Formats: sequence, C-alpha cells, structure tokens
Amino acid sequence: MTVVIYDDIYLKHDTGPNHPENATRIINTIEHLRSAGIWQKLDIKKPRAATEEEVSAVHSISQIEQISEIAGSGGGYLDPDTYVSPYSYAAALYAAGAALAAIDLIMDKKADNAFCLVRPPGHHATPEKGMGFCLFNNVAIAAKYIQSRYSLDRIVIIDWDVHHGNGTQDAFYDDPSVMYFSMHRYPFYPGTGAEEETGKDSGSGFTINIPLSYNTEPQEYLKFFEDTLEKRIKPFKPEFILISSGFDAYRLDPISGLNLEASDYNKLTKLTQNVAKDCCDGRIVSCLEGGYHLLDLPKCIEEHLNGLMYDN
Ligand SMILES: [Zn+2]
Repeated sequence: MTVVIYDDIYLKHDTGPNHPENATRIINTIEHLRSAGIWQKLDIKKPRAATEEEVSAVHSISQIEQISEIAGSGGGYLDPDTYVSPYSYAAALYAAGAALAAIDLIMDKKADNAFCLVRPPGHHATPEKGMGFCLFNNVAIAAKYIQSRYSLDRIVIIDWDVHHGNGTQDAFYDDPSVMYFSMHRYPFYPGTGAEEETGKDSGSGFTINIPLSYNTEPQEYLKFFEDTLEKRIKPFKPEFILISSGFDAYRLDPISGLNLEASDYNKLTKLTQNVAKDCCDGRIVSCLEGGYHLLDLPKCIEEHLNGLMYDN
C-alpha cells in the first residue's frame, strides 16, 4: 500500500501574492487526484509535528528559534525568496513530521512506501539557514530519524528537483552513511552542485552530483539516472531510500530549463523502486520539493504516485 501524508496546515504556509511556491500547487493536486480516482485508492494519513529535538538533529537551535520568532511576530522574510508567515513554523514542523510519520508506518509494515504532499519544501535549507523557499530540510531530518530511531546505517537521498539540494548536501557532506545523489540544471540556482563536489573527509565519494546543461533531453537525463543507480546506488546497499521529489525539471515548468515529460516521473520512480526492492524491501519515502506549473504539477505527481503504487 502506498500512503500519502497530508494535512491542511500545509495550505496555511502563506508566501504572499504571486509567489511560485504557493498553496494552489497542493489544492490543484488533490483536486486532480480526486477526479482521476487516484486519491481514493491511496491510504491518506495525517502527519505529526516533528519535535524541536528531531529538527535539531540537522538544524541549529538558533535557526529553529529564528523561524519560530518570525512566525510568532506576524511574519517576515528570511531571504528575498523565502517568506515566513504566522503559520509557517507549524507548517514546517508538520512537513518534516510527515516524513517521520511515513517512516514509522513503513517500518511497522503498515505501508510499502509513502509520498509526503507537503510544503514548505526543504532541500535548500542548510543546517544553519532557511533559504530558497525552504525552512527546514525535510529529507535530511528524515534521514537522521531513520538512523537514530531504527538503527539503519545506510540511507540514500535521491534528489530529482531541477535545483541542486545544497542544504541536503551540506548536512551530509562529511557523512559516509548518507549518500546524496542529485541531478540538476547547472549552472543554476543555488550555484552549488558541480560534479567535483563529491564529499569531504570520511564522506568523500558519498555525494554524487550530475550537473545538466539547459535543455538536456529526457533520454540523456534518464540514462544518467539509470547508470548512477546501477553503478553507485545499488553497490552502496541502501537500507532506506528518501526522494527529494521536485517536479520542476518538467518541460513546461516556469522556472525549469530541462525537458522531462510528466510520464518520465513514472520511469524515475519505477527505476528507484527496483533498487529499493533489491536493497531494502521497497522502503521509499518521497517528499514534495519544487514544481511550479500549476496545471501540470498534478499530472507529474500522478505519474509519480502511479509508479509508487505496486499494482500499477
Ligand atoms: Zn526546485
């Protein structure tokens, strides 16, 4: 069974008018999945809030307090792209907590895999600061939780958002137990993600960046993806796979520059699932990151969910 973790709190993270990362992304997605008859086939579960202790496994206390205080004082900007509204702190705790609830369900064998339909997204949030629409790093907090709560050692984070997940890379750059694999447009926001960035100290070789030039075609994208899964991810023998699932590499995305079709998200998902079945009993938790085409994002997510659901 594929679980979707969702709560209306995610709609209350208010980024202001004309912001690409807005609640309509999720509203349209649920409406589309309902009318396509998919929402009814999924097990929809509520998240819990991540505790401050769980968040602080990745983020500094001062950062957590800063976001809490901005929200508590009526809202404000962390950077020119990243707004904290009165409900944003709560939404961010529940976004991180969605992944933790999903992990518990999978480890208790109450779900095969899960998709967290959350906002704010997380992969740009570094251990020291929120940025790029992200407050707390949902997948990074999830990886730390899997290790501490379930004593699983080897985690893989696959990031197919069109942007490089600088925050996730920072969190595990010297950590050989969490392999971070990102495919992203480059050079592009946030500027990191060169091929030479492969980790440091004992984490050397456990960060994999595949920078792609503007307009890279899907066949080439899929080939890089499949090759990396075979040659790098499978030999690492992950015990859990997390996905930073952004859908902004979709060809019509307003801030993309890559050319994936909606159906390519089904292929990426199936390829990932094959590795998960081989290595870790199919354990996958996928968290929504970017994806800004308000009409087609729901179709990309539908393809992803169809890939996660075993029956399809
Ligand atoms: Zn993105």
